Order: sequence, then structure tokens, then C-alpha cells
Amino acid sequence: MKKVSLKTIYLVALSAVFAVSFLMFVLFDLHSQQRQTEAAMLEEARTFAREMDAVWQFMDNSQPVINTAEDGTYEFKGLHCSKVGKSVGALFSKGSDYTIRYTNFDPRNIQDEPDEFEAKALEKFNADAAVTEHYGVTDFQGVERFRYAQALEVDKSCLECHGEPAGEIDITGKAKEGWTLDSVGGAISIVIPLDQQQQAMRDNVVRDVAYFLFITLLIGAVVYAVTTFFVFRPLDRMKLAFADMGEGRLAVSLDDAQAAREISRLIERFNSTAAELHTIYDHLEEQVANRTDELRKANAALERQRDILERLNGDLAKETQFKSDLLSMVNHELRTPLTSIITFAQISREACPPERESERHSWEEIEKNSQILLAMINDMLDIARSDAGSIRTACEPMDLGDIVSSVRGTMTPLAQKYEVAFRTRVASDVPLVNGDFEKTQRMLENLASNAIKFTPDGGTVELRVDVGGDGDVRLRMIDNGIGIAPEDHERIFERFFQVDSTSTRKYNGSGLGLALVREYAVVQGFSVSVESELGQGSTFTIIIPSDAIVG
Ligand code: ADP
Repeated sequence: MKKVSLKTIYLVALSAVFAVSFLMFVLFDLHSQQRQTEAAMLEEARTFAREMDAVWQFMDNSQPVINTAEDGTYEFKGLHCSKVGKSVGALFSKGSDYTIRYTNFDPRNIQDEPDEFEAKALEKFNADAAVTEHYGVTDFQGVERFRYAQALEVDKSCLECHGEPAGEIDITGKAKEGWTLDSVGGAISIVIPLDQQQQAMRDNVVRDVAYFLFITLLIGAVVYAVTTFFVFRPLDRMKLAFADMGEGRLAVSLDDAQAAREISRLIERFNSTAAELHTIYDHLEEQVANRTDELRKANAALERQRDILERLNGDLAKETQFKSDLLSMVNHELRTPLTSIITFAQISREACPPERESERHSWEEIEKNSQILLAMINDMLDIARSDAGSIRTACEPMDLGDIVSSVRGTMTPLAQKYEVAFRTRVASDVPLVNGDFEKTQRMLENLASNAIKFTPDGGTVELRVDVGGDGDVRLRMIDNGIGIAPEDHERIFERFFQVDSTSTRKYNGSGLGLALVREYAVVQGFSVSVESELGQGSTFTIIIPSDAIVG
């Protein structure tokens, strides 16, 4: 649901307060006016009653004078209190909306019979001597009237006509009622019309309500005007300023001169926040501009680098082509003649008679160096093939015993030449494993030729194959040669790395053998590592994991 505006809430609250106060005021005023009217009527009725009582008293006091003849003798003239009182009442009532009459249970005159209101009043007076009045607004001859009844006290003068003994004929010729001084002598009943009083009451209520309306509307208008001026208007201005900020116009500042203190503080906060945002935004724009500039420069640099890279790529492609040409040249133009040289040197060495020892030695040197050269060329070609991704690996069951025999066959002559003892040992429980026969043989040959090469005369090289405690198959090349310093243990597997790389080094080689061993190990899912100490010999271990075991 959409939120209701503060102004609406405020107006609704004001209207509700106004409506409730108005209703309460009208009810209260009506009630109090009614009570006032009743009090005024009661006072009027009492005044009438006192006047009638005065007439009655006057007549009572004047009885001796009235009932005396000119000669001074008693002569009853019929003008007793009751008759005069009732007559005055009747005369007063005649032609007006007022009625004054006397009533009593069992009256001497049938016209004085009490009506319902009067009978009730008489009952109350008779029941309790302390109750002397009964009044209220009630129906009289079909019209609403204010009615008042007052008990008539019985005094000595009344007893002459109404006292004891009951039934005795009094001076008016009527039978006495037998009243005593404690009896209720009837009631004077007064009826007052309501019209005038009610009209006055209505006028009063209308006047009061008009006054109330005027005052409350005035207060409401003043409160509304003050609130609008000091609260709503500043809030509206803030709302517009927020909208400006939302559209990116942050340089806004509100004037708080005509706002209430609380709103003024809010405006101050708003102004300071807007100023901060403005500064931050300015700074941000500057930063964005700087960054954009930097990015543009970086972009330009990248483009330059891309050009350079493209050039390098071109160069690289050329180099790759050159490398490929070189390799194919090496393959065909070096390997073929070298194989011929080796074969020719072998034949010549074997054909050389024993007495030509130095010639035989020369053929041996040619053969040995050619063999070394051929091994180096083979290593280089293999590395190049590996880089080109053209190495193919077989995965078939292989008998490590066969591989070891083959390696022994190839390496024994070399070992003899270097005067190093070369032994092999294959444990009887070594199983068949899946792998590439030729590559595994090549790995072992490289390790063996290194071991022989780096083991002094009289030393020992041993190739052991067995099954480790965890089920893996281990191929270990153990020598007691010159050993390798710990810091070189990893680096010797890098291409072209040689511990002694000086031109005066003692041992020949290309630095590619171990790199090739690791690459062949990796492509077959094997691993290779070294344990060695300087002067203590070295152990190279190839691990064939148990999952490569056939079966
Ligand atoms: P290289 O053609 O020089 O033998 P390798 O990659 O086979 O190249 O070996 C790298 C280097 O590791 C060798 O030059 C040598 O310094 C060291 N190395 C290899 N095997 C042994 C070993 N069994 N004993 C001592 N050093 C060794």
C-alpha cells in the first residue's frame, strides 16, 4: 500500500479531533442548557407557588374583616381562602398557556380531581412528609409542559372547614374531611409552557456552537498555517531538492530561515550531506577522467605490445619453421653419416691386427665419440619431438626383466670402457606392468650412462628392480660416484642443465638426458626422483604406480 502523506495524516487527525470535540461540546451544551432551562422553570413555578400562597395567607388573615357585617356581626360571605385561591388561579390561567390550580384526592369539587402527574405528586407527599415538591417535563393535554406540584400545609385556619370531626358540616355547608395539622392539604399544581424557554435554549445552543466553531476553526487554521509554513513547506523544498540530487544536480543548498528548529537542523544536515556528496562526486568525476586517461594509455600500450607480439609471433613461426628444418636436416644429414661412421669404425677396429695397437685405439676413439654424438643427437631429436607434441606413447604389458637385460647388453661395454662394475638385479616378484617398452629402456639407458659417466674408475653401478611396501614397482639406478649437491637435485631435470657447465668440464654431455627421462616418465604416468650427496654417490628412482601393474 502506498504510504499516506504527512499532510494528509495531519489533516485527518486535526479533523478527527475537531469532530469529536465538536460533538462532545454540542452534547454537553445541550445538556447544560436543558438543566438551566429546567432550573429557571422550577424557579418560576416556585415563584408562582409563593404568590398563590401569599394570596391564600392574605385571604386567611382577612377572614374576620371580610365576614363581618356593617353592624359588626359575623356574616359569612363565601370568600374563604380556598375559593379565592382557586379563583385567582383560574383567572390567571384563563387565556394563557399557564395553568394554576389546586388538587386533592377526594376533592369537594370534581374539577379538582388530580390527573396522573398530580396523583403521583400527592402520593409522594402523603408517603413522606419531607417531600414537598414534585416536578418535571411531561405531557399536559397533549402538549409537553413543565409541571410543578407543591404540597399544601394544613394549619389551624384550615381545620375550621376541613378538620375533625369528619363528616361535620362546616360553614360552607360541606362535610369536613377530618384533617389534622399533620395531614397533606392537597397540592398546588402549576403548568408552565416550554416554548419560550426552549426557544431561548435553542438560541443559546446555536450561539454557543457558532462560537465554538469559530474558535476551533480559528485555532485549526492558525495551527495549520503555522505547521505548513514552518514544517510542510521546508519539507516540500527538501523533497524537491532530493529529486534534484536524484537527477544528478548535487549543488543544492536549502534556506532554513523560515523553518522550525528541528526542521532547521534537518536542513543543515541535508545541506552538509549534499555538499559532501557534491565534493565526492566532483572528485569522482576527476578520478574517472584520470582513470579513463590511464586506461586509454594502457590501451595504447597494449596495442603496441600486441603489434610487438604479432611481430614476435611471426618471428617465432619463422624460427619454428627453421627449427623444424634444422631437425629434419639433423635427422637426415647427421644421423645417417654418423651411423655409417660408427659401422665403418667398428669394422676397421675389428680388422686391425694386434700389432697396430695405436691405429686400433684411434678407431675405438672414433667409434666412442661417434656413439656419444649419436646419443646426443637422439636426445635432441626426442626433446624436439616432445615439444612438437609428436611423441607417441605405447601402453602395453612389458616385462621389466627383459628391459633390464637389454639395458645390461647396451651398457656393459660402456661400463667396461670406464672400468666401472655394472650389475643388475630384478626381484622375482616383479610383475608385468603397462607402459612403453622403448621409452622405459631409453630412460634406464640414460640413467645408466650418467651413473657410469659420473662414477670414477673402480666404482659400481647397480640397477635394482623390486616391489615397494606400498605395491609400487621401483627401478633404482644406484652408483657410488661423485654425487650431486642438494640444491641441484631438482635443477638437473631441467633442459641443458649441467652441474659443471664450464667449457673445461671433464664429462661430456648435452644436459638433455634427465629432462628426457622425466618427460618419458610423465607421459607414461610414472615418476622419477633422485637421492644423492656430494661424494657419496646417487640413487635415481623411477616409480611405476601399482595401478599400472597388469592384472
Ligand atoms: P648430461 O648430458 O650432461 O649427462 P643429463 O641431463 O643427463 O645431462 O644430466 C644433467 C647433469 O646432472 C649432468 O651434467 C650431471 O652434472 C648431473 N648428473 C646426472 N646423473 C648423475 C650421476 N649419476 N652422478 C652425478 N651427477 C649426475
